[in-house]
Amino acid sequence: MDKPANPMEIYKLLDKSNCRKCNEKTCMAFAAAVFKGQRSLSECPYVDPETVAAFEESGKKQTGDEAQINVDETVEKLRHQVRQTDLQEAAGRLDAVYAKGRITVKVMGKDFSVDTDGRVYTEIHVNPWVTVPVFDYIVNAKGTAPTGQWAPLRELKGGRERAGLFAQRCEKPLKRIADTYPDFFNDMLEIFSGKRAESGFDADTAVVLHPLPKAPILICYWGPEEGMESNLQVFFDTCVEDNLNINSVYTLGAGLVNMFEKLSLKHAS
Ligand code: SF4
Repeated sequence: MDKPANPMEIYKLLDKSNCRKCNEKTCMAFAAAVFKGQRSLSECPYVDPETVAAFEESGKKQTGDEAQINVDETVEKLRHQVRQTDLQEAAGRLDAVYAKGRITVKVMGKDFSVDTDGRVYTEIHVNPWVTVPVFDYIVNAKGTAPTGQWAPLRELKGGRERAGLFAQRCEKPLKRIADTYPDFFNDMLEIFSGKRAESGFDADTAVVLHPLPKAPILICYWGPEEGMESNLQVFFDTCVEDNLNINSVYTLGAGLVNMFEKLSLKHAS
C-alpha cells in the first residue's frame, strides 16, 4: 500500500457508516485525524487487521524523513530556549546537579549534561528522541515529585489524541522485543537502573524506569497464556503532567523503543 496522499484515501478504507464508535462525528473526521497522525487506523473497529498493518508499514517507510525533520526542528527550538534558561535555577527546581556552567540530569540512570549553549555531554547514545524530552524537562518542568500514582497515556492531559499512535509506535514494538528478547527485563534492571514494581496491575513482570528522575514510567508485561497473546502496557507517574508536555512524553516513549531495539539487535548478532 502506498502512503495516503490525503484524508480521502484513508476514508476509502473505512466503513463509511458514521457509527461514531471511534468517538469522531464522522468517518471523514476520523480519516482526517488519522492523516494528521492524531489517531490510529486501528481505532476504527471495522478496518481489518491486515489493512491496518499494511497502512502502518506504508507510513513507516515514507514518513521517516519527514518525522526526522520535525523532530530536528523541535530540538533546535528547544536548544534556543535552553540558552535562555537559568541552568542553576533549573538544577534547583529539578534536584539536579549544576557545576561549571552545566546542568546534569539522570537519563535512564546515566548522566546527561547540557551547557548554557545547549551542547550535550553524555555517555548514552544521543538521538533527537531523547534530546527533545530532556530539553523540555530542563526548560519547562515544574519539578513536581513522583506521586506513585500510575496512569496510561490516554488518561494524561492531552494524551487521548496521542494514545493510538503511542500504542502503535511504542507499546507494540516494546511487546515484540519483550516476546523475543530474553534479557529485555534484566537489561532494564541492570543497564538502566530499573526496579521491580511492588504492585503492577497483576502483570507477570512490572519494572519501574526513570527515563528522567521526575518522569518515571512503569512497564507491565503479561506473558502469553493458552489462547491469549502476550500484552505490554506503559504507565506514567502522574507527576509527568507537570514535568513534560504531552509531545515530549510521546517522544520519550519513542526514544525508549529506539534504545531497546538497538540493544535487542546487538543481542541477536
Ligand atoms: S468507527 Fe469507523 S465506521 Fe464508525 S465512524 Fe469511526 S471511522 Fe467511521
